[in-house]
Amino acid sequence: GLWDCNLVTRETYYSPAFYRMLGYDADGFAALEENWMRLIHPEDREKVENPWHESRAGWIQRFEIEFRMQAKEGDWRWILRRGKVVERDAKGHAIRLVGTHVDITERKQAEQDRVARDVAEAANRAKSIFVANMSHEIRTPMNAILGFAQVLKKDPALTPRQAEYLEIISRSGSHLLQLINDILDISKIEAGRIDLKPASFCLHDLLWDVEMTFRSRVEEKGLQLLVEWDDLVPSHAKADEGKLRQVFVNLIGNALKFTDVGGIAVRVRAEPVEEGDSSEKGRIRLIAEVEDTGHGIDSADIDRIFDVFHQAERGLKAGGTGLGLAICRRFVEMMGGKIAVRSEEGKGSCFRFDVLMEPVDEVFIEHEKSMTRQVIGLQPGTGPIRILIVDDVKHNRDLLREILNPVGFELAEAGNGVEALAQVESHAPHAIFMDMRMPVMDGYEATRRIKQHEAWKSIPVIALTASAFDEYKDEVMATGADAYLRKPFRTEELFETLGKCLPLQYLYTEEAVPSSQVVPPGPMEAISLDGIPAPLLHALHHAVGEGDMAKFGDLVQEVAVQNPGVAEKLQWLADRFDYEKLMDLLRPYA
Ligand code: ADP
Repeated sequence: GLWDCNLVTRETYYSPAFYRMLGYDADGFAALEENWMRLIHPEDREKVENPWHESRAGWIQRFEIEFRMQAKEGDWRWILRRGKVVERDAKGHAIRLVGTHVDITERKQAEQDRVARDVAEAANRAKSIFVANMSHEIRTPMNAILGFAQVLKKDPALTPRQAEYLEIISRSGSHLLQLINDILDISKIEAGRIDLKPASFCLHDLLWDVEMTFRSRVEEKGLQLLVEWDDLVPSHAKADEGKLRQVFVNLIGNALKFTDVGGIAVRVRAEPVEEGDSSEKGRIRLIAEVEDTGHGIDSADIDRIFDVFHQAERGLKAGGTGLGLAICRRFVEMMGGKIAVRSEEGKGSCFRFDVLMEPVDEVFIEHEKSMTRQVIGLQPGTGPIRILIVDDVKHNRDLLREILNPVGFELAEAGNGVEALAQVESHAPHAIFMDMRMPVMDGYEATRRIKQHEAWKSIPVIALTASAFDEYKDEVMATGADAYLRKPFRTEELFETLGKCLPLQYLYTEEAVPSSQVVPPGPMEAISLDGIPAPLLHALHHAVGEGDMAKFGDLVQEVAVQNPGVAEKLQWLADRFDYEKLMDLLRPYA
């Protein structure tokens, strides 16, 4: 739009484009007469007036301003006005100004959106960093709590009561860790930082594990638990096992929490995915239901229970975070499915979800049996192996010492990066466990220096962090570190990682319990199963009942952690096919 204004007579010409921009026609605009200044946004009026006065006074030659004007429809338009003095009087005062109007509403809108988005992103980043830091602070002490509980559980001098207390510490600790992980999951989901990690796994084992996890708690409440799957459910599949497990655990956990009489049924079936979309060929849809005979959900709440932090009245009373179902829904959607619930108050609830997966042959599964075997030493001829433990927190160093010492490693310690470098110089360790966050010199810097040093760079550095975000892994590995362990770690993980970095052979419990022993390892009548967790005994009973002796063998490994003597005897009976005796022993735990 164009305008041309005589500052003396105040007579002004407006081009049609000028008023059409605001939605007026010539007559409508003329009807506003000189009053059209009131179309200018009150906050911008001064900005619009100033250039008139300033050019009239002869101070300026040109100007450019942005301001808001109200269109005929009532909405605000952003206008870019440029103006220029074209005539002056003898004293140099402007008497005629001409200029243009450009509608810049869209550009302004985009600018505002960008600013809003930047602010939101910055806030989200700040929140993510806060959550990551906070969980780091929580996970660090959790590492000590869970780790030492694990170390203590192996102490053969434990009384049954102490073993029970330790079990409680471990369980509560794991529960707390779970809560932290939930909060973290949600914030990662919200920040769009969570992805699927599909891998091959045994689906039947997963269902079996989930059943085992809940069986004793369900029975303690006097409830029944039924887990069943139909023949079409493949034994092995490729999907994100961790997320699938979490969905089951959350749903069954809820069912258990909100059910006082009756029971819980978990039913799983599979359907081939319709042909058509070639990318989906060969995939199956796994459909699962978790049904309970509990309190049910009020219809007023049913639409909202999948929302973050939403809990119905009973949920609020029972504790929890209101995050479980929100996480389930997100995970299920990521795996290509949906989750829904049917419920009637007082009668129970039935959660149903489906996910896509790819059946695979068993041969492709990487067996991680070694993970469950317990390391008890180094093969004769290995060693001596010197390990440097670097951590600023003493009890974290103590924990590593407790784990590594009995296996036969020689240990040295350092409390920060500077001390670590001095130790590397004087002790020439074969491997280093390096905490990343430390005062004086942190693990990042220390690792970089070691890796830049000609004589030291081949020493494996295993970075330890309590950071919960996988993204930090890249940052850690960029220092040149050879491996990465996240606290809290399991002892098996620690040995496995170390085993990958050094040419060493471990001795495992398995090998220490010769199964072909001819003489019974002690009197068989005196097998006391006290102190061995009931779910484990139940699982042993089930394995013998099913004749699944591979499973039985695995479970005996777990018994060995608590009580090597008993494990030895159970294995002895199994090796002799004395299933009757085993059944007699285990029947009370069925
Ligand atoms: P939380 O269990 O931590 O409260 P969830 O997101 O898992 O959080 O569940 C949200 C709410 O949904 C619960 O607080 C409860 O009110 C309701 N709810 C979930 N599962 C069931 C169920 N099986 N029976 C009755 N109510 C349920």
